[in-house]
Amino acid sequence: MATATTGRRRPGPGRVAAALLGSALLALPACSGGDEPAPPDFAPRPAPVIGGEARNVILVNGDGMSAAHREAARLEQQGFDGELAMDVLPVSGLQTTAPRDPDATVTDSAAAATAWATGQKTRNGSISVDVDGEWLTPLGREAKAAGLATGLVTTAEVTDASPAAFFSNVADRDQEAEIAAQYLQDDGPSVILGGGADVWDADLLAQAEDAGFSPVTDPADLDAGGDRLFGLFAGGKTYQVSEGEEGDGVGYGATVDLAALTTTALDVVSRDEDGFFLIVEEEGVDTLSHDNDGAGMLAAMRSLDAAVRVALEYVTENPDTLLIVTGDHDAGGLTIEDPDGGENEFPVAGSDRAFELDWSSPDHTGTPVPVTAAGPGSDALAGSYPNTYLHQVMRAVLID
Ligand SMILES: [Zn+2]
Repeated sequence: MATATTGRRRPGPGRVAAALLGSALLALPACSGGDEPAPPDFAPRPAPVIGGEARNVILVNGDGMSAAHREAARLEQQGFDGELAMDVLPVSGLQTTAPRDPDATVTDSAAAATAWATGQKTRNGSISVDVDGEWLTPLGREAKAAGLATGLVTTAEVTDASPAAFFSNVADRDQEAEIAAQYLQDDGPSVILGGGADVWDADLLAQAEDAGFSPVTDPADLDAGGDRLFGLFAGGKTYQVSEGEEGDGVGYGATVDLAALTTTALDVVSRDEDGFFLIVEEEGVDTLSHDNDGAGMLAAMRSLDAAVRVALEYVTENPDTLLIVTGDHDAGGLTIEDPDGGENEFPVAGSDRAFELDWSSPDHTGTPVPVTAAGPGSDALAGSYPNTYLHQVMRAVLID
């Protein structure tokens, strides 16, 4: 972890440029006459340069959110000249999300979160294990072992893939009971807020009790006075998705306030003077994009950006905190078009104009996703990079 008194050795600008150029050249596949070129390994990028006092990381995942989701939400919430909270962050970058999977070019949430949590590409479905099944060290566990507070807040099941990759190792993301059991170990998260109560059977709840965790089922019952929070607010995801035809726009029904949960989580983890790592996730962007439900997706984006606003206020008050807002992959292959008389029309706020949402896929796609960031280390997130690079930057803030 970094503290005010920790001196940091940084390469000068010239060395960074040389290292960047060197890694770019090394990454080029060799041309050899006739032989099938082996796919290049991902060249390690130079160590990120962290400026200023760095202590905490807040990672906000709009699951399934890429550029079109952000722009559609901006138009719908803020209009042509407005900004989402996530757009206010001063540094922008672009990450690629491809997994390393013999059967897939497009990532799932497990491989994408493993890249963030461990810095390594892996197969779809794998939670912080490599392509050979070896356990990797997830950033959340590493941060906890180093003395920091750690936590997760999600509208998905607390044992769903994205948060799970930071705090557990399983070969298959469906092993949610095993993920839950690993959360209860000493280096598990001290804040666990979301859905997924159905995963926690009597045996797991007894183990949780032994580990000092008693879940509440109503956010109003959370006690932010201690150093732990455990809330399971739904059997599955914390939002309801209306049953209906694809694209019918009935979508997302929130049962918890993600922004309020984020505030409570920050109250608790920020008390640790060694620093903290917190992941905040809005899963509804992904779910409603799979459903090609524009109205539902836009509602989930409102929930997400309200949580980002809470995080942004925190980093404004606490400049030793790196805030990253991104998505783990695109979902839905969304485009924004001029209205064409279709059903998926939405007004542009503060104007008499409208836009239409057009989806090209019911699945994830390989479109790169924007990253916005603020705080120490955020400068390193300008540019274009693989998703594994987020791990390098977050780890440099928390551990190095
Ligand atoms: Zn995802």
